[in-house]
Amino acid sequence: MGLKCTICGSVYSPQQVTYVCPEHGVDGTLDVQYDYDRVAAHLMDAQWAELRSMWRYMALLPVEPETARRLVTGNVLSSVGWTPLYPVERLAQRLGLRHVWIKDDGRQPTASLKDRASAIAIAKAREGGYTTITTASTGNAAAALAGLCAAVAQPCVIFCPRTAPEAKVTQLLVYGAQVLLVDGTYDQAFDLCLAAAPEFGWYNRNTGYNPYMSEGKKTVALEICEQLGDGWSWRAPDVVLVPVGDGCIIGGVHKGLSDLLALVDAWKRGLDAAEMAPVPVDTVADSIAAGLPRDRIKAMRAVRESGGAFLSVTDDEILDAIPALAQASGVFAEPAAAAAYAGLARAADGGIVDREDRVVVLVTGSGLKDVPAAKRAVGEPTVIRPRLEDVRQALHAG
Ligand SMILES: *Cc1c(COP(=O)(O)O)cnc(C)c1O
Ligand SMILES: [Zn+2]
Repeated sequence: MGLKCTICGSVYSPQQVTYVCPEHGVDGTLDVQYDYDRVAAHLMDAQWAELRSMWRYMALLPVEPETARRLVTGNVLSSVGWTPLYPVERLAQRLGLRHVWIKDDGRQPTASLKDRASAIAIAKAREGGYTTITTASTGNAAAALAGLCAAVAQPCVIFCPRTAPEAKVTQLLVYGAQVLLVDGTYDQAFDLCLAAAPEFGWYNRNTGYNPYMSEGKKTVALEICEQLGDGWSWRAPDVVLVPVGDGCIIGGVHKGLSDLLALVDAWKRGLDAAEMAPVPVDTVADSIAAGLPRDRIKAMRAVRESGGAFLSVTDDEILDAIPALAQASGVFAEPAAAAAYAGLARAADGGIVDREDRVVVLVTGSGLKDVPAAKRAVGEPTVIRPRLEDVRQALHAG
């Protein structure tokens, strides 16, 4: 396994470098490279392939099999991944498309896709002999770390912006994490966490800094291809809709697809994101409120190399998407996750997605994470007195 700088292309061994390129500092995020010949021979080794979790892709994960075997047995870590993929015909029809699926990562142990990354962080911290893990988070990465750490009695320290939704912060406290609510933005919490980790000797899970987080997140793409396929014959979708904050999920989805291809080819370099300037953020979708996307190089490359597109959607479109998605599929998404569906509605309108395309909408987190936002979309229920007459009236008013 090698770690290749996304800016200069230098390759380091995991023993040499823990997080980022020594030449390029925090901007020098690293890609994990594998010996694809070896991986091809072991991709679906029987002992791992029988697991209904992300660990079934062991040969494509940056973790020693021994670590996984010891850590991921009989606890919540063993349930990360292998979330359902549903065909959603009514949604497809409404958008004038023929093939749409929802990948429901609200069904992870802590109710967001972030579990895929936090699981890897715990394994890497164990391999590195760290006693404490830390992360900055808009909420879900922290909840994922806190929950999975609780499963294996691993101490963690969390930095969240004070504005994080109450449900997410409460989830952290319930799991027993040490929570530090930073009176500032996510970006400030991120920088503070970066400074604290070396100061106190903690392992740092931060998105776009820790090179292994996209490796965990890429398993969602491997699963989609396997679930769309038939037995050993996997099939990639034409389009995947991904909500983007720091860019780690979209980078991870691309990495998963690329790993599958490049079990053949080498990476091209991505430089244009290096010059990006921070922007002020103000959105109902807290999980994607990142002013300076920390994994922007991988995110830009994902969209460029796949011939994709970035779309922005308004808060109103996001709020409308929450009940629209739920009522057509039974999947309740948090605002950031509903943004992917709002994006599909725009893409279908604008001809970015073709009628015949096979489309997967990645629902990255559960709607129960942010009930007040959902409430803004659906308002209040009807209250009646306990009388049949009131039922009749309510049905007529309905
Ligand atoms: C973190 C998160 C995102 C954005 O992922 P990035 O890797 O920051 O781009 C989207 N949706 C949900 C629910 C999330 O928790
Ligand atoms: Zn470099």
